[in-house]
Amino acid sequence: MSGESQLEFTVAAVWRQERISCPHPHVLQSWLQKGLPAGASDFVEFHLRDSACPYCNAVVEDLQARDDRARSPVIEDMRDRLLRSTVAALRRGRA
Ligand SMILES: [Zn+2]
Repeated sequence: MSGESQLEFTVAAVWRQERISCPHPHVLQSWLQKGLPAGASDFVEFHLRDSACPYCNAVVEDLQARDDRARSPVIEDMRDRLLRSTVAALRRGRA
């Protein structure tokens, strides 16, 4: 093993262990919403993909799951239909 790859290994290990430079979850959320300036989003992408930080990847997955549930058009549609059929049933019941 050359000295250089030894150093790279150490830096990666320290980065993962200490969560050095982990972006705040708010930053990760802004990144998901494409609200970060180019430099910052490059950093987040590097951190998530190249550093493969398990902590931040878990946060992003969690944020994405919440986002999907909150905004899913399928669920909105089901809720709409359910509401409309409930209203229709109530109207029929009254008539
Ligand atoms: Zn991280």
